[in-house]
Amino acid sequence: MRYYTARLNPLKRLVLLNDTNLSTSGDPASSPRVFTRAEHPISRANISPNALKVLYRLKEAGYQSFLVGGAVRDLLLGQSPKDFDVATNAHPDQVKQLFRNCRLIGRRFHLAHVRFGQEIIEVATFRAAHTPMDEDNSVDEGGHRVLDERGRIIRDNLYGTIEEDVWRRDFTANALYYNISDFSIWDYVGGVEDARARVLRLIGDPETRYREDPVRVLRAIRFATKLGFTMHPDTREPIPKLAWMLDAVPPARLFDEVNKLFLAGRAAPTFDLAVELNVLEHLFPEVVPAYLEAPDSPAAKLLKLGLKGTDNRVREDKPVTPTFLFAVLLWPAIRRRVPEGLDTQQLLAACEQVISRQQTRVAIPRRFTLPLREIIALQPRFERREGRRALRVLDHPRFRAAYDFLLLRAAAGEADPELARWWTEIQTLSPEERVRKVEPVGGVREPSGRRRRRRRRRPPAASG
Ligand code: ATP
Ligand code: MG
Repeated sequence: MRYYTARLNPLKRLVLLNDTNLSTSGDPASSPRVFTRAEHPISRANISPNALKVLYRLKEAGYQSFLVGGAVRDLLLGQSPKDFDVATNAHPDQVKQLFRNCRLIGRRFHLAHVRFGQEIIEVATFRAAHTPMDEDNSVDEGGHRVLDERGRIIRDNLYGTIEEDVWRRDFTANALYYNISDFSIWDYVGGVEDARARVLRLIGDPETRYREDPVRVLRAIRFATKLGFTMHPDTREPIPKLAWMLDAVPPARLFDEVNKLFLAGRAAPTFDLAVELNVLEHLFPEVVPAYLEAPDSPAAKLLKLGLKGTDNRVREDKPVTPTFLFAVLLWPAIRRRVPEGLDTQQLLAACEQVISRQQTRVAIPRRFTLPLREIIALQPRFERREGRRALRVLDHPRFRAAYDFLLLRAAAGEADPELARWWTEIQTLSPEERVRKVEPVGGVREPSGRRRRRRRRRPPAASG
């Protein structure tokens, strides 16, 4: 991006801004502003060779063939794209004929997946007006296909032209088309300028676009934090008043979106922005009040530290899991139900209640909630440091995550830092040294540290 800015002289920028092709209203223009290869920094050297193969083969078969979406945006910004999406005027079955390694997915609006080992290049046919991006799995046929008396399709307006396709996209920076036939960028919405100025702007009338698909509210927050863009005031302003519309989004889709929001390396700023825009309460109805009621409580601190830790792990390329993320996010709500102590039964009951309420908004699959419960249930067991039984925690499949959670509790001021140090040290010891540490010479001791005494049976109390 810096490279790009350097190339753009001020005069040219002025021309760009005054260009009648470019919309200032947020609506796409009827013809694109074309940035020739000399006017932008995107080099084929930075495009996945598999994506190039797909792009060229479509072109050679006579179709329009563009790289689109996040890949063009990221390349323009000098970042490396996560994946490469292609858009074309070829229909899915025509795409399928060109590639042996191709599978069609989606029930109504078919997408072609062209597979090269681990890498999948997604090829989408340009969409007509009124086919929202998220309806690939929709079974609703109403309104788009017109059938005659015999049930024959007489009009099928699912697929459209590139001009129509622009309307399906959310933000201007996400609506750029890199044309493989001459390496130019086609820009109908001023996306190049917005990317250069680091502005996140919704295409079209923001309120309408959020209503069409409320998940765009989450995408706005995600891209603003991930790309370090400022939301255009018109894009930002409707969010707090429309956030409630997220309540109607299927919880399974929200689970995917929450992971994208919080596992992409910018969880901490994302959390703050989502709270600020009144969005997070619609994803985490119990957590947000618990967090806002006591922002300085250990549980709230744990949440913030946990998100920062997640971001650090992403930066260091270490694995991150929804299990730990949700344990961190839900902790203030669990602690609100069990404010004091570490009673296993109470904690588990609170966990149960918080999770089941949470599931009504964000559907967390069981493969994540079960280990989440284990992480919580292991916390009381760290309190016990004497006797061989204490060492069994080390063999628990969830030990590592539970220990990381203990470290967070200590850092947040909830657990004794000395306890955390003890569990850190014990992991460095050999099996014999561990036993020596938990069974000091002079006999086995009770968890409290008192010597074990044999209890004398009391005579039963007299009844009556
Ligand atoms: P990322 O780098 O996170 O993958 P991306 O921009 O590629 O970002 P995707 O979710 O992969 O995002 O979507 C690809 C493109 O499809 C987007 O750039 C955007 O143009 C369009 N798109 C995806 N979801 C929506 C949506 N809900 N509404 C409108 N357009 C969307
Ligand atoms: Mg993408």
